[in-house]
Parts: sequence; structure tokens; C-alpha cells
Amino acid sequence: MSNGHQKFVLERDNFQQLVDVLIRRGHEVIGPTVRDGAIVYDTVSSAADLPVGWTDEQTGGSYRLRRRRDQALFGYAVGPHSWKRFLHPSAVRLWQATRQENRFAIQPEAHDNRKIAFLGVRSCELHAISIQDRVFVHGQQVEPSYQSRREQVFMVAVNCAQAGGTCFCASMNTGPRVSSGFDLALTEVLEESRHYFLVEVGTAAGADVLGELAPRPAEDAEGEAADRICARTAANMGRTMDTVGIKDLLYRNYEHARWDHVAARCLTCANCTMVCPTCFCTTVEDVTDLKGEHVERWQKWDSCFTMDFSYIHGGSVRATPKARYRQWMTHKLATWIDQFGTSGCVGCGRCITWCPVGIDITEEVSAIRKSEEGVEAKPNHGHTCENCS
Ligand code: SF4
Ligand code: SF4
Repeated sequence: MSNGHQKFVLERDNFQQLVDVLIRRGHEVIGPTVRDGAIVYDTVSSAADLPVGWTDEQTGGSYRLRRRRDQALFGYAVGPHSWKRFLHPSAVRLWQATRQENRFAIQPEAHDNRKIAFLGVRSCELHAISIQDRVFVHGQQVEPSYQSRREQVFMVAVNCAQAGGTCFCASMNTGPRVSSGFDLALTEVLEESRHYFLVEVGTAAGADVLGELAPRPAEDAEGEAADRICARTAANMGRTMDTVGIKDLLYRNYEHARWDHVAARCLTCANCTMVCPTCFCTTVEDVTDLKGEHVERWQKWDSCFTMDFSYIHGGSVRATPKARYRQWMTHKLATWIDQFGTSGCVGCGRCITWCPVGIDITEEVSAIRKSEEGVEAKPNHGHTCENCS
């Protein structure tokens, strides 16, 4: 399955050179690393900082790291962090002001224009970034701090070699193979006596970086090995979601009894929105010092699961967990399409894994769809557990 990008081979022993070239060119390299029992994104300076030989096991409300039998660098699915942590940080100071006699001098915040390289971006995440680009850069209003950070990113993508237990990117047409939006894309190939990366070039900047590594062009067999890996991943998704007519399905079912069922379990903790790579909602807070001399305005992540988020003089317009879960899910899968022209869900599975009670967006859609078909809902993950409904 050729996608038209030039393909090269980078041997595992030379992988460090890629990191070194990016650092030498002035990028801070951010990639996956193991911390506190999870794979999270942080600054890396060496291939040894990556989760070498680790994998993850994920299902509704559960995430565990396990040792692999090999020394894969990217042998796991996505963890609790997404790249929005860097492009759309959880707390951003917008401006500050200091009292000067009888007036305040306002100091605007300088834009962050550090050169950053993202190492190990998955296909669903590239799609999530492109969705946030549409919101922050390609809409009627441009968010200048996001735009400034976004313009500096060099993107090294990785094709997923195994699907996570809660992944359903194949259903959302967002993976597992990367198709666009990257400078370089890697497929990690582990054979009995060989470990290498098939490298695809997405941009001139990518070709420039790769040029410093002096890779050799890939042979057909190496390209085919990478194709098989992507096909195997696509065939082993942990979850599926039938998206046919999903917008109208949800619009027809605003009063479905399933919303009461999910509301009885939902803690309105907002975890699903914090981990979701496309959720972008924020609030603004003003903070003053005790003497009233200095004030700062901060933008912070907010969530449609909090009461305050939809507070309009006199009360919240979404006072119940039912109203808040329904708002979140119908926004992701239906109203987002009207608003932005795409689904707001890329099938990364984070909201399922990191929901403390294992609420599963794919099961909720399936239950509503099945009820219209007169079929009883079944769990969407081949086992029975306390989260099964
Ligand atoms: S809604 Fe859930 S599965 Fe979809 S993109 Fe957000 S976190 Fe991922
Ligand atoms: S669906 Fe789960 S993660 Fe989201 S608010 Fe409810 S309990 Fe929290």
C-alpha cells in the first residue's frame, strides 16, 4: 500500500542521530517517556529516554505498563498526555498589569516561539492537532499564542505497530497509518535479527533533516513489511464505532433513556475532557495580589462537565450529569460536524481508559443505535467486567 511518500531506512543503531540532528538544529525534542507508571510526553535528549521495551494494557478505566519481550521504542498506544499539553497548555498567562501611581501598566505576554520537535506522534494525534488547528487558526478568530507555538513544531510521526485496548481510529478514518501532517513518519520494524525504521518524508523540512542522517532508500520488501504492520494494527482495534449517520442518530435521540443510564455512572469528574486531544474549552481567571498592586489574567482548561462552565446569570444551564454527558458526547460526534465540518473524535480511546468508572463512548453510541434497531446493547469489548452494562 504505497502512499506516494519517499521511503528510506534508518537502522535502530542510528536512531540517536535523528534526535541529535533535531537538537543540533535548535529544537527541544518532546517525546514519550515513562513516568509515574504511565507513558507521558516530556523532553527527551536520547533514545534511551524513550519507553524502550515497555508496552501498555488499556481497557475501560484501566491502564497498566508491562514489559515487552523486545526492545521496541514505540511499542505502545497513546497515554494520558496528548500534544495539546504543549500546543494548547492547561494554563497560559494572557497578560499582567502593575499599578503605577493612579493607573495600571499592562504588560502583554510574549508569545512562546521555541522550536519544538514532537517525536512519536500517532496518526489519531495528527488528526487531533489538525482539528485544533481548525478551531484556533483557521476559524474566524485566530488564537495567536497557539498559532505561534504551532508554527514552530517539527513533526516526527510514528505508525502504530499495535492497537491499544481502547483504540478505534480505524472506525474514525484517522489511523492507524499516518497520511499527512508530518515532516517525517516512522514505522518501527522488529524482525528476528534486525531492528530498523522505515522513514517516509512528508515535507521539505523533513527531507532536510533526514538528509543529515544519510539513510538509504528502502527496498520493496522493507516497505511491504511496514505495510503489513499497519494492516495488522488496523485489524486489531480494541474498540469499534459505527459512524454511519451518527449525527442524525444522536439528534434523533436527545431524550433517549440511555442518557439516564450513563448519568447514573458518570462522576462528572471531567477526566474525559482533560485527556481528550481535541477538547479545547477554557475559562479565564483574574488573580490579584493582596495589596492590589499586581494583577494577572490566566487562561485555563475548563470542561463542559463542570457546573460553572455553563453558568449563565442565576444558574447552570446544564445542571445534571445527564445534560453534561449528553452535551459532551453529542458535541464530539454530532454538533462538532455542523460547527467545524469534521467529527470531534479521532478514536484515540483516552476518554475510555481514563474514565474512572470505565464509561465507553463506543458503547454509548452502540446502545442508542441498537435500541433503534430493536436489539439489546452488548459491551463493545470482548469480556465481561464491572463496567459492562
Ligand atoms: S472523545 Fe475520547 S476517543 Fe474521541 S478523541 Fe476524545 S478522548 Fe479520544
Ligand atoms: S464520562 Fe467518565 S471521565 Fe467523563 S466526566 Fe463522566 S466519569 Fe468522568
